[in-house]
Amino acid sequence: MLIAGNWKMFKGPAEAEAFLAGFEPPEGVDIVLCPPYISLAAAVATGATIYAQNVHWEEQGPYTGEVSATMLLELGVQGALVGHSERRQLFGETDETVARRARAALEAGLGVIACVGETLEQREAGDTELVLKIQVEAIAYAAGSHPNLVIAYEPVWAIGTGKTASPEQAEEAHVFIRDVLDRPVLYGGSVKPENAAELLSREAIGGALVGGASLEPESFAAICQAASRS
Ligand code: PEP
Repeated sequence: MLIAGNWKMFKGPAEAEAFLAGFEPPEGVDIVLCPPYISLAAAVATGATIYAQNVHWEEQGPYTGEVSATMLLELGVQGALVGHSERRQLFGETDETVARRARAALEAGLGVIACVGETLEQREAGDTELVLKIQVEAIAYAAGSHPNLVIAYEPVWAIGTGKTASPEQAEEAHVFIRDVLDRPVLYGGSVKPENAAELLSREAIGGALVGGASLEPESFAAICQAASRS
């Protein structure tokens, strides 16, 4: 079971270090934290498993604002998120760029958590499976079922909204994704201490990608404890 915390644009180096210095991961759960780029070095220095929130597909070049897999590896970073819905919705990330990022990162030796998920509009139009198929197939085409690849199912309507997919909705989507690409699937979307145990008890849910509730040590620890019991 893998629990990943996405800190988004929160926690500079001092705060990241303070959080991780006091954090005791429970037995039997793999924990990954994804700080902003500026805090990666401080986070790595604590000995925790650290992923970046994105990664470029080229090794170097004229790509202002981007970082490459080799640069992350040099820092001791072990993986990267790709395709987070905030990247797709706010920063023009496409299935093609997500797939290129995933492939380059895996080829360089990083782990990858590739995020997919439908918007509320797409769900209400009955297009959830179509959207998931297109997004997951793009990743599968570029990266195959690489052993260091994990998918995160994050319905866009559940991210940062307080709305969580029901365990049934999440499980249905996870089973569908696993039929397209046989890799572990994390659930993400308003996971909190109150709903973690029920979500994580589902067979097809291989862990969680946690945003808001990973920012406080108490709530993140409670989610990790729930994972260690399931
Ligand atoms: C996320 O950022 O990946 C996420 C799932 O956010 P939240 O848990 O706040 O919905």
